[in-house]
Amino acid sequence: MRKICLIIIDGLRNDTALAECGFLTASTEAKTARHWKMISCLPTISAPLYETLHTGLAPSDHGITSNEALRPSNRPNVFSELKQAGRATGAVAHSYFHTLYGGSAFDPFDHNEIDDPSASVPHARYYSLEGYGRANPALPSEVDLCAQAWAIAHRKAPDYLLLHSSSCDTLGHFYTSDSAEYRTQAWRVDNALSRLVPRLVGAGYDVLVTADHGMNADGHHGGDQPGLREVPFFAFCDRVKAPIDAVLDQRAIAPTVLALLRADVPDTMTAKPLL
Ligand SMILES: [Zn+2]
Repeated sequence: MRKICLIIIDGLRNDTALAECGFLTASTEAKTARHWKMISCLPTISAPLYETLHTGLAPSDHGITSNEALRPSNRPNVFSELKQAGRATGAVAHSYFHTLYGGSAFDPFDHNEIDDPSASVPHARYYSLEGYGRANPALPSEVDLCAQAWAIAHRKAPDYLLLHSSSCDTLGHFYTSDSAEYRTQAWRVDNALSRLVPRLVGAGYDVLVTADHGMNADGHHGGDQPGLREVPFFAFCDRVKAPIDAVLDQRAIAPTVLALLRADVPDTMTAKPLL
């Protein structure tokens, strides 16, 4: 059975993905991937939507409604359901994901690298962005993140692997969505993915690429604007099915991941899997 890698490009608008991400759009032209527009839940904020992407619940239903309200997930989620089913997971992601799914408060000295089969997320590499500011955005290189994801996939082969990139969000905040910096970074992420995705596919992974939310021309996100709610969804996976002109619901991702892995979908995930 094929494994699943979910790639979240934080803060990437759908229109920017289509305009800048030449590898992803070339893959749709070549029919190795398909693209849909997806609508994110509200508020269009990172921590609430990380939880939405993994629980299939809107923030008003899972209870994490702001970044300041970040806490461990207390709803059935992709990581917990796979753990219960005896399946392995992995992540290369911002430290918020450790707080949500890692089972303890994040400490960079304890949790930067985790390889522990008994851990909630057994194979993980977390980055903190500590010191983040305009003079030093404290971002990992995209290709380094991709290489870390590849190392986990290649050596540990978890059934579910999350790769989360923060850089479009960070540069969007500093320079706005209407900037060469934001648009160029979208391409940089895509350019790094062009080296990772074919390897993952060759190693038995189906790959899904999306964003938590978009970005606006004020360098902000949180509200209900098309540039904030319309995010890309690319599927390198023949088993994902939806009418090609459909506009998809972000809450469908969690049950789709579990269904693709032939794991039980909990009753709390009410959106229909995209199968
Ligand atoms: Zn975000």
